[in-house]
Amino acid sequence: MANTATHTVEQTLSIIKPDAVGQNQIGNIIEYFEREGLCIAAAKMLHLSETQAKAFYAVHKDRPFYKELVEFMMSGPVLVMVLEGEDAIARNRQIMGATDPSKADAGTIRGDFATSIDRNAIHGSDSAKTAKEEIAFFFQPNEIFTRQ
Ligand code: GDP
Repeated sequence: MANTATHTVEQTLSIIKPDAVGQNQIGNIIEYFEREGLCIAAAKMLHLSETQAKAFYAVHKDRPFYKELVEFMMSGPVLVMVLEGEDAIARNRQIMGATDPSKADAGTIRGDFATSIDRNAIHGSDSAKTAKEEIAFFFQPNEIFTRQ
């Protein structure tokens, strides 16, 4: 009998943060996704307003780093993307590496591009629920081009 292991095609939200955009690393970072078989299903460059940055990270509003995080995310343009592929949510987190770049493996985006926990190059949704909510935060359905 054929292997019945199922892999679900998923979509997840990715943001190349202001530090990596400012260092001219957009193309280099996208390459990490594409060479692992994740497709760019949507992309837009934005400069987040305070309202957007606060709302996007509202889950962290009581954390001591919230103000700093919001200010950093507003400090320059970001590239917001929908990534699509098999098990895209978990695979994207593996490709990104650990939140703290000092703990991220070499060869992950954070291991290779991030300079500190508060300037860590990339955001990625951490569950199916947050992926759905975060994609809807930035994109209308007709702005997403399903690839798989
Ligand atoms: P992520 O899902 O790996 O991005 O991590 P979290 O959802 O836990 O945190 C969101 C973002 O908040 C991280 O990417 C960091 O930029 C920032 N952050 C998390 N923990 C800390 C911290 O202890 N100090 C500071 N300054 N920033 C943090």
